Amino acid sequence: MSTTQELQHIDRTNVWHPFTQMAEWVQNDQLIIESGKDNWLIDTEGNRYLDGVSSLWTNVHGHCVLEIDKAVQEQLTKIAHTTMLGLASVPATELAKRLVDILPDGLTRVFYSDSGSTAVEVALKIAFQFQQQAEKGDPNRTKFISMQNAYHGDTIGSVAVGGMDLFHATYKHLLFQGEKVTTPYCYRCPFGKEKANCNRDCFQHVEDVLEQHGSTAAAFVIEPLVQGAAGQIMHPEGYLTHVRDLCTRHNVILIADEVAVGFGKTGTMFACEQENVTPDIICLAKGISAGYLPLAATVASEEIYNGFLGKHEEFKTFFHGHTYTGNPLACAAAIANLDYFEDNNVMEKLQPKIAHLQNRLATMLELEHVGEIRNHGIMTGIELVQNKETKEPFETATKIGHKVCIEARKHGVIIRNLGDVVVLMPPLSITLSEIDLLCNATTEAIKAVTE
Ligand code: PMP
Repeated sequence: MSTTQELQHIDRTNVWHPFTQMAEWVQNDQLIIESGKDNWLIDTEGNRYLDGVSSLWTNVHGHCVLEIDKAVQEQLTKIAHTTMLGLASVPATELAKRLVDILPDGLTRVFYSDSGSTAVEVALKIAFQFQQQAEKGDPNRTKFISMQNAYHGDTIGSVAVGGMDLFHATYKHLLFQGEKVTTPYCYRCPFGKEKANCNRDCFQHVEDVLEQHGSTAAAFVIEPLVQGAAGQIMHPEGYLTHVRDLCTRHNVILIADEVAVGFGKTGTMFACEQENVTPDIICLAKGISAGYLPLAATVASEEIYNGFLGKHEEFKTFFHGHTYTGNPLACAAAIANLDYFEDNNVMEKLQPKIAHLQNRLATMLELEHVGEIRNHGIMTGIELVQNKETKEPFETATKIGHKVCIEARKHGVIIRNLGDVVVLMPPLSITLSEIDLLCNATTEAIKAVTE
């Protein structure tokens, strides 16, 4: 194997990293991960780091999970890949049933792809085509309503329904137009309210948007409960139900993007469960294969699916499909992932961990520069501010959030920031003592950088 220095050289010379200012990146020595075990990452020098963001919110049971390793190895002895165009495979077929069994009732038709972005693209195209061509569709419904600060992926369609200027504004001339709903970001309420005296103007606002644009909207896209990439912005209780009711009232298809929140991260298997909401289409990725292989699923209701049946062959086909759609290895990993959830009572065992995490976070809120801590399940955003009283942010150029994450490595923890929000999203398999380590390291790092 190449030495660390050789790998770093190649990385600087030949690799282009995602979401990375490369001019800055190449000035530093890179930490190169060689292996992983349980909730830990091990670099090429043998240093161990707690994986505080489950390798981008994905490795829900940590790394090298024996049962999932075995399932992938076993599938390898049968077949690694076969197409779903004109054929079906054993794992993709079995996984569809397993997903339908655990999803909110009414979501029955599984369309595979390979990333969160493509899961959203598929949902947008299904919704659009349904409106254009299905008997119950309405061709005047061409718009998408989505949320400000939304993140749905990096392909052009998912960027169009995104709402983060930093990531999305550059591409605005490439994007189809839609309507954006102002985010209910309670810490910095866009309606000028404080939580204590609020009349839920955000509920009225989304109602007004639907009133005005509902008749021309194909679908409403939302990250249920938590807008992850925006900095773990957590919507007020009942907001999702309200959006569901409005979509039903205005005949707008509701697309729930559970790419980030799905597979246990909010404390239930799916975030929609917490408000008893069944979307018309749900998007799944990340935790679906426990971080083993790229896989995504867009699952639609029977009514949406039925819109694609009928006599007019050319209209009734959904013209979409990637080469790796429903890859058998990835589906085998996903089935083993679901088995692991069940066999190990992952969701039951998670509850005391969430309680412990919340206790520890309460202490962290006392730090001078911690403005707000948002938490739902194990999803956590720690918003750092210059001034706690006025909520004045740090100067962007100080890159405080980034510095905190780099500092945390000295304490043996890998975490990642979104601007000045430090994100903790450990694997569901994290132990109580690892939660302590995660919180201690984060606290020390915040203190070291801000004081
Ligand atoms: N939707 C949401 C809510 C996400 O958080 C993400 C990724 N963070 C995506 C879509 C895109 O997923 P991927 O990176 O797999 O394309």
